[in-house]
Amino acid sequence: MLDKPQIQPAKLVDPFGREITYLRLSVTDRCDLRCTYCMAEKMTFLPKSDLLDASELEEVASAFIARGVRKIRITGGEPLVRRNIIDIMERVSKHLGHGLDELTLTTNGTQLQKHASDLVRVGVKRINVSLDSLNPETFSRITRGGRLAQVLDGIAAAQSHGLKIKLNVVVLKQDNLDELPAMIRWAHARDIDVTLIEAMPMGEIEADRFDQYTPVSDVKANLAKDWALSRDTYRTGGPSDYWRVAETGGRLGFITPLSKNFCGGCNRVRLTCTGKLFLCLGRDEDADLRAVLRSGGGLDAALIEAIGRKPESHDFRIDAPGQSPAVARHMSMTGG
Ligand code: SAM
Ligand code: SF4
Repeated sequence: MLDKPQIQPAKLVDPFGREITYLRLSVTDRCDLRCTYCMAEKMTFLPKSDLLDASELEEVASAFIARGVRKIRITGGEPLVRRNIIDIMERVSKHLGHGLDELTLTTNGTQLQKHASDLVRVGVKRINVSLDSLNPETFSRITRGGRLAQVLDGIAAAQSHGLKIKLNVVVLKQDNLDELPAMIRWAHARDIDVTLIEAMPMGEIEADRFDQYTPVSDVKANLAKDWALSRDTYRTGGPSDYWRVAETGGRLGFITPLSKNFCGGCNRVRLTCTGKLFLCLGRDEDADLRAVLRSGGGLDAALIEAIGRKPESHDFRIDAPGQSPAVARHMSMTGG
């Protein structure tokens, strides 16, 4: 007898023909750091009862994977400060090789020493570590009190367990612009890729974003005066545009949401820790998946309906002092 043909559910395709294959799953809005470009100094965090629990997160992840999502990035806030983070990741990791190609994580690195071996155990191979300075004082100023040594120890621990690392560096006009070549050299000497990211106007903070923002396209042009950059075909499913630096032998990515819009190729959506699905980082369109989950069903229909409302692009702009943020929520709430 012939096997019954398996009928695959249709993929998630938005009104602009973009297939959604990448989910960023935030597990907390809390963090042990307070980066000046990400958060206000005094943040009010959500009550823990508002958060999706591990089985709800698993249910949403499974629904997305059934509809063609092949990559999930766990994020936050700082994902490694959530108490049951490894349990959550283990639940999602059951899909690896069964629809899910990659489970990964973005972290500030402070808790990596504690968690690196468990991350490897649940199938994580690569992680992004956010680090904006290698100078202890500058790092402490940017993070409002963070200890650089803790992150460097975390990176070393992750590498010793075989995790491949990419460093995410937000380019900050007044804090790290001069340090970028040294940071790139430091990372490449340790087989760590680097991605430079533009500051984005998300949420109210104390500083004026105009004083922080520098177009990464300008940074790239400056680096290219001293280094030979050649295009690298490497792709991670994210928005980074990769280059190879001849002088260091390493890989360098550029994320330019403001200076070079890449929305045409967007393949992702973001779920907050309370189950709100944001369809675009810089827009307010959302879907309350927690309400769907807690009312007992219709998750698949809710995903299809939401993707049908995905906006074409964000409208981030930082071109004058004193501008309001594009969206009221901080990156730490949306899940960067
Ligand atoms: N706490 C983790 C970390 O720092 O990697 C994960 C969450 S954090 C919100 C994710 C990424 O967003 C980090 O690389 C961080 O530097 C970046 N980020 C936060 N606020 C940003 C902003 N306003 N503009 C650009 N990047 C931002
Ligand atoms: Fe925390 Fe990450 Fe935001 Fe820094 S960027 S405050 S580490 S969530």
